[in-house]
Amino acid sequence: MEDKNYKRRSFIKTAGLGGAALATSGLTASPLVSISENILEEKAKVINPYGRVPVSLIIDDSTCLVNLAHYGIPQFAETFPDRYKQDWRKLPREIPDSFVREFGEWCHEQGIRGKYSIVPYPACTGWVNRFIPGWTKRELEDSLNLVRDLIMPDWDIHPEMVSHTRVFDIKTGKPYPNASPEYMENFEWSQTKSADELATYQAFALRVLKDAGLECEGLTTPGGYGGRNKENLAKGTMDALRDVFQTEIPHYFRDLYTEKGKSVAPLVKLASGLDSNDPKCVVSIIGCTEDWFGDWDGLHPGSADLMITEDLSSGRLVDVIDSGEPAIMVCHWPGIYYNGEKVGFNIFKETVKRLNEKYDNLIWMKNSEISRYWAAKELSTLTLSGKKLSVKAPFATKGFTVSLSSAKTKNPKLIYKGEEKPLTRVDSLLKLTDNTWCKNGKEVVLCIDLPKGEVEVML
Ligand SMILES: [Zn+2]
Repeated sequence: MEDKNYKRRSFIKTAGLGGAALATSGLTASPLVSISENILEEKAKVINPYGRVPVSLIIDDSTCLVNLAHYGIPQFAETFPDRYKQDWRKLPREIPDSFVREFGEWCHEQGIRGKYSIVPYPACTGWVNRFIPGWTKRELEDSLNLVRDLIMPDWDIHPEMVSHTRVFDIKTGKPYPNASPEYMENFEWSQTKSADELATYQAFALRVLKDAGLECEGLTTPGGYGGRNKENLAKGTMDALRDVFQTEIPHYFRDLYTEKGKSVAPLVKLASGLDSNDPKCVVSIIGCTEDWFGDWDGLHPGSADLMITEDLSSGRLVDVIDSGEPAIMVCHWPGIYYNGEKVGFNIFKETVKRLNEKYDNLIWMKNSEISRYWAAKELSTLTLSGKKLSVKAPFATKGFTVSLSSAKTKNPKLIYKGEEKPLTRVDSLLKLTDNTWCKNGKEVVLCIDLPKGEVEVML
């Protein structure tokens, strides 16, 4: 849920603040590559998974049944009476499961993947693991079953903290009495809390979803949550997810950047224990669009043209995809539903159609899959020595793709725990699957189902 006067995300508005220009090749080198001294011309770099560009959709403000805009707006208006003037009574109180099914089935057919929020105590209406007044117990159970069966296979499930409105006092079991910004999840409360305090609160939210039979590897910050407390947010998120779900690679969504030239690559943070049995890190997933679908309240239509123009020549997604960084779109569920008019959904469909017309090298991934890939990419150590590429991997990942410039090979073999496995040759980058390789110009590209630990490829 956005407040235009109280930016939840870190927008960079001024041209020139974007920093370094993006690489044009789209193939960014891992920083941890060591090269044997006598073969200086050979280089190994980790490129994108399967040599493709990841795309993903982040859906905020979804939950079971409750239209968060209808119930949230009057609560935000109590905090800031001059800002939230929307006629919330006109908005439907429910976003029905028939729409969840329609959306989920369409996305599944298209192979779309991403993140879907389930707010545990949506706008303080009721608890997704107990009951929500206004709906029968059966309706809530059906709604959760739909999320588990249809949504969870393709989408990460995130809490958006506890209520997305009032801060919930986990000691008293009640929301705090005061609706001032200091007691709203969107606004001030999180900005002064320690990593431990944030972890405790976030773990509470995660346990509600666990109790409802949902599994999480990440979380989403509601509104401005943690925006001025980013280091504690990262640590608190890592600790909460490791505690509640024993998540190997926790991730979170807080920031998005729409400025051309500003990197939107995931940030792998707080890495430690990489040589131990219990390596740690947390990944900050970065969105690359504003909500250009139907806005958070379902009252302001967006436009597919901002993402990719009708002639396919420009738009934010074109810039990001052509840079080779993951293109992670951001939307809000009430805007996708758009009070039954489905304006946001139609904009998304048009966006996907245009992407499919322009590109054949995209790969839809969940946020957790992108996080895992980036953790493996950033934290693995590669050593190329003669005919041997050694990879020391603290985290496993599928599709681990390494480009070797000017290496020669005919029959590369993967060696893991004493077992040899030949890689299968394919004739182009687009045909890479796990444990294959191809020639790409002068480069040899290896695509490995990377296990955790030490792996060698004999060239
Ligand atoms: Zn939200």
